[in-house]
Amino acid sequence: MPVATKRDYYEVLGVERSASPDEIKRAYRKAAMQYHPDRSNGDPESEVKFKEAAEAYEVLSNPEQRERYDRYGHEGLSGTTAHDFSRMRPDDIFSVFGDIFGDMFGGGSARRAARGVDLQTEVVISMADVLDETERSIEFTRRDFCDRCAGKGAEPGSKVTTCDTCGGYGQVERSSGGGFFTTRVVTACPACHGRGKSFTDKCHDCKGSGRMPKRRVVTVKIPPGIQDGQAIRLRGEGEPGADGTSRGDLHCYVRVESHPFLHRHGNDLICVLPISFTQAALGATIEVPTLRGKEEIEIPAGTQFGEVVRMRGKGLPDLRSGRPGDQLVEVRVEVPRKLNSKQRELLRDFAETEDARVNPESKGFFDKLKEFFEFE
Ligand SMILES: [Zn+2]
Ligand SMILES: [Zn+2]
Repeated sequence: MPVATKRDYYEVLGVERSASPDEIKRAYRKAAMQYHPDRSNGDPESEVKFKEAAEAYEVLSNPEQRERYDRYGHEGLSGTTAHDFSRMRPDDIFSVFGDIFGDMFGGGSARRAARGVDLQTEVVISMADVLDETERSIEFTRRDFCDRCAGKGAEPGSKVTTCDTCGGYGQVERSSGGGFFTTRVVTACPACHGRGKSFTDKCHDCKGSGRMPKRRVVTVKIPPGIQDGQAIRLRGEGEPGADGTSRGDLHCYVRVESHPFLHRHGNDLICVLPISFTQAALGATIEVPTLRGKEEIEIPAGTQFGEVVRMRGKGLPDLRSGRPGDQLVEVRVEVPRKLNSKQRELLRDFAETEDARVNPESKGFFDKLKEFFEFE
């Protein structure tokens, strides 16, 4: 990049030459928020400004480089190890200044709070449980604060000092990549697990980690209308974060058992009902299973195979509106495989009385068949 075309770094960040390190930091955050490609839909001009601000901040936030820049301008910086931001992806630029962006999105705390691990568990309910709100108590194990050391990792009575590795900051920077493209990445301090403290004697129970597996029992409320496989999130029931705050969540997956007679189709329930051909022909009152017990339905005379009787409001409630679905009873007419002699006799007599008038559909079929052969 030709040095002459570079804008003045103070001008880029919109600060006075006498600006304090804090003012420079605030100005850079503001510029980075304003020009971050995620917020400007990838507008190329914004990306240039975003990178320009990163470059200005890198120089002005480093006292030694700022002094050289103040004295000699851009020329004073050639040969120093500043990043070439124009060649970096915006996300990599974020990782270079990881701590200050952590602040920005974490609400201004001095340290970026590492959120604890999310956990997941499963609870099984019956189809009938889907009708109303239901509660289940769930027992699970999570890595939680050690009782002996209250999560600090130090044996009670042990001398606690500031961690030498991170200077009490809880985070360390390490370099990744190499040569020209080296970037610095901020991670939790491995020596103190992000707590910023070290001690002469590690806790005898947790060996210094500050965490022990613990059983926990919570009650989960399952709303009516839940679908098989949906999860309920219990906020803050996961594991504690590295700094002891901001727990993860517990995701409770709900499994709905299948029912022996009722099949779920959205909020409707489908029930297959076998009836005899005499019930279908003459009509009948028949008991069917529902989720709230047995109920009688009327099968009208002349019901055909596959016809559906709708039981309004006897299905499952909608998860959002609460409005109930229907139960659909699908009729299967069964033809007897065996007849005794009396039944056979009665059916023969019946067959002799049969004519086209009582079987309108088959009449239509035979009429069409006759026409078909007459055209041959
Ligand atoms: Zn402990
Ligand atoms: Zn440390």
